[in-house]
Amino acid sequence: MSESRFEVSRRHFIHGAAAGVLASSAVGQLAAAQTAPATGGKKIGYALVGLGNLTIRQILPALKEAKLSKCTALVSGDPAKAKKLASEFGVDESKGIYNYENYDTIADNPDVDVIYVCLPNGMHAEYTVRGAKAGKHILCEKPMANTVAECQQMIDACRAAKKKLMIAYRLRYEPINNAAIQMVRDKVMGTPRMITAEAGFYLNADPNKLPWRLNKKLAGGGALLDIGIYALNATRYLTGEEPTEVNAMSFTPANDPRFVDVEDAITWQLKFPSGLANCATSYTYGANRFRVVGRDGFIESEPFLSYTNLALRKVTKGKAEPIDIPQVNHFAAEFDHMSQCVMQDKEPLTTGEEGLKDLKVIEAIYESIKTQKTVKIA
Ligand code: NAD
Repeated sequence: MSESRFEVSRRHFIHGAAAGVLASSAVGQLAAAQTAPATGGKKIGYALVGLGNLTIRQILPALKEAKLSKCTALVSGDPAKAKKLASEFGVDESKGIYNYENYDTIADNPDVDVIYVCLPNGMHAEYTVRGAKAGKHILCEKPMANTVAECQQMIDACRAAKKKLMIAYRLRYEPINNAAIQMVRDKVMGTPRMITAEAGFYLNADPNKLPWRLNKKLAGGGALLDIGIYALNATRYLTGEEPTEVNAMSFTPANDPRFVDVEDAITWQLKFPSGLANCATSYTYGANRFRVVGRDGFIESEPFLSYTNLALRKVTKGKAEPIDIPQVNHFAAEFDHMSQCVMQDKEPLTTGEEGLKDLKVIEAIYESIKTQKTVKIA
């Protein structure tokens, strides 16, 4: 669910050179980062915690494509599901299946280098802290956690264990969003002054059996933490700046049985040192775009967060130009980045501190909604 609703096709399409491939330095750097170092065929082993939609439909297949990463263990509350997936994806059933109770004994499994946490948001902190205490590096799904305090506990636990912590912001590991970042740095639209960013989808739910995404304790909030975080994160990576102030408003449709515990839509405005951003998120309609505007025009991406077929174009001085770049499997690229960091003892691009910064803004957004005032972000 969630982002997968935007998936157009699982085919990774490659555009020909005649399509005008953008050779920006950000894309060049990304390609360099994605080039596998000589490892003598060694791959980093991952334990996947939580066998839900994302793990089954995206991560397990992506790991088959990855150059530096492989799945060596599965952690699940459903032993039959774990056994079936283990046999399908080549995990040793005799030593690679765990449940949530014996999870900590993963400490004794030398085939597991990194734990990938793909559970409801409210469980990320516990499984990261336990994983770090078990002596493993952590790759944790977005949002990092429900609160800034939980993010800090996760950072502290990984630091104390001398283990790496990466947050799975997959768009930082794919070329279209990186090309957009480079175009903003190159000021192709002039000095960027305004960003609009929207991310939402219609969340189908049985009112008699609400999913965890609509439960405050497990989700941390509504659409903002689940999908709106992509719009927020985009404003931060596109500007390369941190917002200093936020103004926000929420809306929940009356008598909609989905929204008893969390809100539906939020709009928020951010002030950055060099301009403004206007953002929105919702569980009631689909949205998947950003635009960066300056004196000479704009760049825009729609869709910018789907798993495949992302699109980017530049409109400057009245001329529209599509930016055509070969696309990659975001998840394989993301896992291989983590593996490379483990192999070369480097810090990941999207650290725990990066995840915490988003949660800081999210807490300020909720504070602004509550107080109906502009909130300064410390
Ligand atoms: P999901 O509901 O499909 O899977 C959640 C898994 O957690 C299930 O296997 C479920 O059994 C397990 N679980 C364990 N304890 C649970 C509990 N108390 N309540 C509910 N489930 C419990 O969710 P998902 O879509 O796979 O999302 C998992 C995480 O991945 C979330 O943090 C989400 O934000 C993130 N996500 C990221 C992307 C991305 O593109 N990076 C896409 C989708 C989801």
